[in-house]
Amino acid sequence: MNAEILCVGTELLLGDVVNTNATHIAKGLAQLGVNVYHQSVVGDNAGRLKQALCEAFERSDLVILTGGLGPTYDDLTKETVAAYFGRPMEMRKDCLAAIEGYFKKTGRVMTKNNRKQAMMPKDAVVLPNAYGTAPGCIVEGGGKAAILMPGPPREMKQMFDGPVTEYLSRHSQGVLVSRSVNIFGVGESAVEERLRDTLMKSEDPTVAPYAKASEVLLRVTTRAETKEEGYRKIGPVVSQILEIFPDNVYGLDCGSIEEAAVGYLKAFGLTAAAAESCTGGLVAKRITDLPGASEVFGLGVCAYANEMKEAVLGVRHETLLKHGAVSRETALEMARGVRAVSGADIGVSTTGIAGPGGGTGGKPVGLVYVAAVSAAGEEVLELHLSREREDDRENIRLMASSYALSLVIRMARQCKRGQKEEGDAGKSTRRA
Ligand code: ATP
Ligand code: MG
Repeated sequence: MNAEILCVGTELLLGDVVNTNATHIAKGLAQLGVNVYHQSVVGDNAGRLKQALCEAFERSDLVILTGGLGPTYDDLTKETVAAYFGRPMEMRKDCLAAIEGYFKKTGRVMTKNNRKQAMMPKDAVVLPNAYGTAPGCIVEGGGKAAILMPGPPREMKQMFDGPVTEYLSRHSQGVLVSRSVNIFGVGESAVEERLRDTLMKSEDPTVAPYAKASEVLLRVTTRAETKEEGYRKIGPVVSQILEIFPDNVYGLDCGSIEEAAVGYLKAFGLTAAAAESCTGGLVAKRITDLPGASEVFGLGVCAYANEMKEAVLGVRHETLLKHGAVSRETALEMARGVRAVSGADIGVSTTGIAGPGGGTGGKPVGLVYVAAVSAAGEEVLELHLSREREDDRENIRLMASSYALSLVIRMARQCKRGQKEEGDAGKSTRRA
């Protein structure tokens, strides 16, 4: 089924109101597996609305409209849709009773205008409004359907999430199943490039990339008779993605990279501690934002000044003199230091130049070192973050903290592997 969204309201055209209705509906339709190829906005004008509606129905079978269901003269969505389908308007007693009930309940006086809201295109399916007076409706005819909802977002949402979603699920076959693969450290275009010849062309299941700050989410979606069958169809595609990006996938259906990091630490029975310079505590914040983080995280140090890096983390004076605060060596000593002070399994650190000032030829803004240290080994990443995005202090700090979290995940996996190998070695010794 192809659908499009048509929002009615001059205030939207003037930029006074952000079109949050379209966002909500578009997300909902995507989840339902309904294709949306167009969205449009038209002012409160009968002629232009009629034209927009005709154009929309030339392209799509279903048009979802919001706005213009109110009681005033400029609210003309229902009338225009009724005219398109060639239906007269008629008074619906059930709607009138509901509107009268609403006024009684809220202690307001009902005006004559409000009776207009009980007028519906003939044979329309009425959508009750729990939060306001204007009911919505569905008008069907000639293989096409229009769904009309009120403009106020609260009223629209309850209608869309409730009866409209139910209606759409009934009219689309089977169930829609999807899984997201969370990828970090590879850009969206690089992901597309590496999947181009295989997965990006796949029509069932579909694979769609979504990019957010230095992360890519690949959503694998299919439609099937049952949920189980859907997951069976999706499984091999997800495995294929895992094979292509073994080091970059940090989770499946995962909310965020910090959630994944805390999840791994908990699952493997490990703890972490952070020593931060340029991220100023952002790594610690993102971890401790999650409930239950105390099980796996005991210490976050923001050691901004060189003297503090020495005094609190035991970074050597000579290291700072020889290599500077923003260096591979300092990052490593910070991570070792916080691990030693806290007794955590994994010590992670960040040091870099977030800008906008402070960069030099040899050490430009965006140069960040992220290190992690554990019993399984040591690792340092040298990042050039201003190359990936514009020089933006906030972005550089956010991305640096994400890289630190990704390194925690990598270390946790290595520790787990180490534990396993030790266990296996133990087993073989016993056997011998
Ligand atoms: P009412 O009975 O309030 O007149 P209505 O269905 O006629 O409802 P509109 O008059 O078009 O709806 O819009 C009412 C209010 O809802 C607007 O002032 C605006 O704040 C909000 N609104 C309308 N359309 C949208 C939209 N697409 N996204 C977000 N908010 C919207
Ligand atoms: Mg209105």
